[in-house]
Amino acid sequence: MSLLRIEGLSKVFGGIHAIKDLSFGIREGTIHSVIGPNGAGKTTLFNLITGVYTPTVGRILLEERDISAIAPFRLARLGVSRTFQNLQICQNMSALENVMMGRHLHLDSRFLPAMLRLPGIVRGDRACRDKAAELMAFVGLESYLDADADSMPYGALKRLEIARALAAEPRLLLLDEPAAGLNPRETAQIDQLIQKVASTGMTIMLVEHDMKLVMGISDHILVLDYGKKLAEGTAEEIRNNPDVIAAYLGG
Ligand code: ATP
Repeated sequence: MSLLRIEGLSKVFGGIHAIKDLSFGIREGTIHSVIGPNGAGKTTLFNLITGVYTPTVGRILLEERDISAIAPFRLARLGVSRTFQNLQICQNMSALENVMMGRHLHLDSRFLPAMLRLPGIVRGDRACRDKAAELMAFVGLESYLDADADSMPYGALKRLEIARALAAEPRLLLLDEPAAGLNPRETAQIDQLIQKVASTGMTIMLVEHDMKLVMGISDHILVLDYGKKLAEGTAEEIRNNPDVIAAYLGG
């Protein structure tokens, strides 16, 4: 059964169709990757699924619920969490506090501004702190528990973002280019971490340019080209698809 279903989705910016008449489903407990050249519409798709944009046409269904016009903080409570292509870390907080922020997405949004002004409130919540520490260990960042976020290496911050997204206890985790800017050792760590998260039963949607990573871990791959579905299938099917080879893999 599909956890997420996209039906006839389009997003138009001015005259540009960033997403065009796109339909597909994501089965629960799978790693579903989205690939395509720069400008193919991958991040726009994530922004539509997470409520940053509303569709021009079409529907997004989480199980049977239409989430097309739901605000991002509400979607987080419904179980949709994400990381970002460009890191969205609070640099003036500690690593642990950044992860704790993820848990507080479950709070009423009216409390969030106050919480941001008074990080002491976050620090005082023992259960939240323990869970955040557990997640930092899960992503391999136990040695950074008390570190200031702005003192951490880039590769560690990419994993910190994943810990923060997991802190909201999502049902669907969207990872936007988790390996971008990482060296081969850090990429291998991210590869292992994504597989570790998947082994908990999490449904993962992955946008990534690193083809070795994508081909190695994906249950299903969707190929976008100019906002449209060019192909979808297993890594093997995508590797051998003549349209993909011609349009994307460059022969
Ligand atoms: P990349 O791999 O470079 O991140 P992408 O596949 O994520 O690319 P998008 O960023 O989704 O592609 O962009 C798809 C198209 O939509 C591009 O032509 C882009 O210029 C356009 N676009 C995206 N966001 C906006 C916006 N807010 N306003 C206008 N055009 C936009």
